[in-house]
Amino acid sequence: SVASQQSLLPEVQSFLDQSPLPSFVGGKPLPNANGNLVATIDPGSGDQLAEIHDLDASEIDQAVQVASDAFPAWAALSQDERGSILLKLADALEQHKPIIAQIEALDAGKIEAQAAGDVQNFVVTLRYFVGLASKVEKRTKLDVPGHEAWTVKQPWGACAFIFPWNFPFLLIGWGISPALAAGNTVVIKPAEDTSLSALYLAQLAKEVGVPDGVINVVTGRGATAGAALTNNKQIKRMSFTGSPEVGQLVGEACGRNLVPVKLELGGKGAAVVFDDVDVAATAKALVGAITFHTGQVCCDATRWLIHENIYDEFVAECQRLMEDVKIGHPLDPSSQMGPVVNPKQRERVLGYQEKGIAGGAKCVCGGGAATVDGMDGNYVKPTLLAGTLDNIAARDEIFGPVAYLATFSNEEEAIAMANDTDYGLANSVWTPDEAKANRVAEAMVAGNSWINAHNVFAHGVPYGGVNKSGMGGGVLSIETLMDYYRSQSVVRPL
Ligand code: NAD
Repeated sequence: SVASQQSLLPEVQSFLDQSPLPSFVGGKPLPNANGNLVATIDPGSGDQLAEIHDLDASEIDQAVQVASDAFPAWAALSQDERGSILLKLADALEQHKPIIAQIEALDAGKIEAQAAGDVQNFVVTLRYFVGLASKVEKRTKLDVPGHEAWTVKQPWGACAFIFPWNFPFLLIGWGISPALAAGNTVVIKPAEDTSLSALYLAQLAKEVGVPDGVINVVTGRGATAGAALTNNKQIKRMSFTGSPEVGQLVGEACGRNLVPVKLELGGKGAAVVFDDVDVAATAKALVGAITFHTGQVCCDATRWLIHENIYDEFVAECQRLMEDVKIGHPLDPSSQMGPVVNPKQRERVLGYQEKGIAGGAKCVCGGGAATVDGMDGNYVKPTLLAGTLDNIAARDEIFGPVAYLATFSNEEEAIAMANDTDYGLANSVWTPDEAKANRVAEAMVAGNSWINAHNVFAHGVPYGGVNKSGMGGGVLSIETLMDYYRSQSVVRPL
């Protein structure tokens, strides 16, 4: 198998040897009565890595109960005590980075060096929110004549998290760090294709002394385990990251149960490229962005709106760069782009190419599946389609290394085209003209705009979408930390 051809770290091998890997609840493996398993596959080779449990509602409800029971003691710790436990976890994650990165590379088809970057990002995020929570004033005095009055910020209780497969470990870090730092306990449901790094996290949390029941990981398919967690009435908050279709179901269930919900959904971002750019540098940045993690990035620019004056030159440059991208197994250090996560996702990517072309788009470069010697992986070629924006490939999120090109002739038209989408996650504008860049950046309707860059993240900069891209964003910033406190007022007549 590929896993054995590539030199696996002994710790990774012994982790995989625990297969079938149970969920981890209350500091110990959770027995699964139904015996149903899900195979987790290396998308780069097609080899089975391990099996995980596909839990039913009874196990999921048990996990939420455990998280609820663990809440009062965790919330009662001082900020310092809680912070020092979480900082120990951050240190342990950093020490175990090569192991977690290799697990993630194999399980999610992510280039190993990028997976290591994701682990480091989790570490920094956890430290950031521990620090930030320590600075939040928990009590605010209110000026009420004849009364003593204040508000107090309290954590909510057991918070649920459902995650997608594209950034399995990083998104867990972004999601649970503010919740834990604020004093909540968490139940994590990773995607069924990519649950291994979450299970490793739960084991490591136990080893470094995170109290039992504070970090719980439950696994299984969306329709079973995911739906059970969504429908649980005891959870105090729900955070869902994934597709708009499932986001709607999660939102409906939370509406029925009156559970506050945060939805981080898909995107169909635009990159508006004016005719005064450095063509080579801009093409390099955009090809780099669309091939990063094989285009399975929610905030990617997937509609490239190019000024008509530079279109031919820009396309020729992109084509040259795309043809140079080295496609290969995520553990091969020479690989620049790995596979997509599973055969179904490859069908989706190829299907959108076919439907786009049938609808009148032209395939400018790439197209179709790619092969990597000796691997039965889900590889696809970086692809450029071109045409009008009424095409299905220009409207739907494809979630692969496919960019859709269209031309514009002036600023007003570019803004209208960028906003001609159901989504609203992230866009970028490319021009050295600062005033023009600022105007366009603010006029594009979305949670995030970048200027002469795409996919720039920093702690303190709120991230999250509007419209079909979600609600309740503020990820990575003070805004999301505040979501994990409820505000309660206390009033006493004097
Ligand atoms: P998905 O919606 O299919 O699955 C996400 C999670 O939901 C998985 O854990 C899955 O098991 C679970 N799920 C599936 N059906 C469910 C149900 N009926 N009830 C409850 N849970 C259920 O998404 P995906 O294919 O894993 O991920 C890709 C999507 O995620 C893309 O649309 C992408 O844009 C989006 N995404 C958004 C962000 C963001 O921050 N906005 C980040 C990453 C990914």
